[in-house]
Amino acid sequence: MRQEDSSESSPIPGVSRRDFLKFCSAMAAVMCLPGMEEKIAEAVTAQKRPPVLWLSAQECTGCTESLLRTNHPTLDRLILELISLEYHETLLAGSGRQAEDWREKSMKENKGKYILVVDGSIPVKDNGIYCKIGGKTALALLEEMGSQAAAVIAIGSCASWGGIPSADPNPTGATPVHVIFKNKGIKIPVVNIPGCPPNPYNFLSTVLYFLTLKKLPDLDEQGRPKFAYGRIIHENCERRPHFDAGRFALQFGDDGHRKGYCLYKLGCKGPETFNNCPIQLFNDVGSGAWPVGTGHPCFGCSEQGVGFTAPLHSPARPKYITPPSVFPDVAATRGHSATIAGAALAAGIAGAALGAAVATGKKIQKHGEEEGKTGTGEK
Ligand code: SF4
Ligand code: SF4
Repeated sequence: MRQEDSSESSPIPGVSRRDFLKFCSAMAAVMCLPGMEEKIAEAVTAQKRPPVLWLSAQECTGCTESLLRTNHPTLDRLILELISLEYHETLLAGSGRQAEDWREKSMKENKGKYILVVDGSIPVKDNGIYCKIGGKTALALLEEMGSQAAAVIAIGSCASWGGIPSADPNPTGATPVHVIFKNKGIKIPVVNIPGCPPNPYNFLSTVLYFLTLKKLPDLDEQGRPKFAYGRIIHENCERRPHFDAGRFALQFGDDGHRKGYCLYKLGCKGPETFNNCPIQLFNDVGSGAWPVGTGHPCFGCSEQGVGFTAPLHSPARPKYITPPSVFPDVAATRGHSATIAGAALAAGIAGAALGAAVATGKKIQKHGEEEGKTGTGEK
């Protein structure tokens, strides 16, 4: 009998045609482009792989680790067959002068055509001396590499918002990519893929969208692809029926927690956080494989100003793992959907949930004006 996973007719060596087409279908689903799987398959196979250069600044390598956990296809296939990863400090075989020479050569050969991916925030205090690669500051490298790219993807909450390194008192002046571009007058478009970690499929699908449709996906007011960040966590959470019914875990390990009740009273930020975690899941290990699914409240990592804004114990820090003092009328919010602010207002609920919703609404509205104030920025 013929082996099912034969890769003879597959455009990717070692990946069966069936798996390859499954992958294209999954990507089309992530991008909310039903029926586009064939076009994606054509785009992936019919042209030169898009050159990608990856710059790591103040980060924990979690974004790369998250990408390494993908397995449809695995990262090695992805690197070798879907994109041409020209430079990535963590994954490069070479190092030192050899690596920097390769980066410069690749930038020259692919000027205006490569995608620059940045993870980590960029320190700008004291001329950026707190992060140097090959003798150059991350700030100088971002300017040099970013201004010659076709597009930039800021992956993770650090590159998108400043993340943990920008938490008060922000000693290094950690600043997100889009703010530096604005301050330096660099006009290259920046896509934010926030998350701690970001979902690797949101990154992969953004690259494939660019490759297939020759343009960036529609972005929200915070520069995030709408296909991935268009809905709040709360909307698709499997614990939502418990929220609607007023059943809550009150302590980690209590009866409600063990029964899978809603984590709102443990500080869950799902009602004010836009991301597709409950749908995309993590690590390809099946249902429930996302933070809330495993019993941990969402802490709002993909929402600017919700996670990573102030030190622990600071009064300015969002109330993480602290129940809100005023609780929404859960019966009144039953049937609530996409816009939490609108639903909260309609239901007439007050206090923490409404405050959070209104703050989120305002934040989104004012994103354009606010971005210059994120982190310390360069003035
Ligand atoms: S509050 Fe959190 S745990 Fe509860 S339903 Fe919403 S997202 Fe899920
Ligand atoms: S559940 Fe919330 S905190 Fe966890 S990864 Fe998703 S958006 Fe971030």
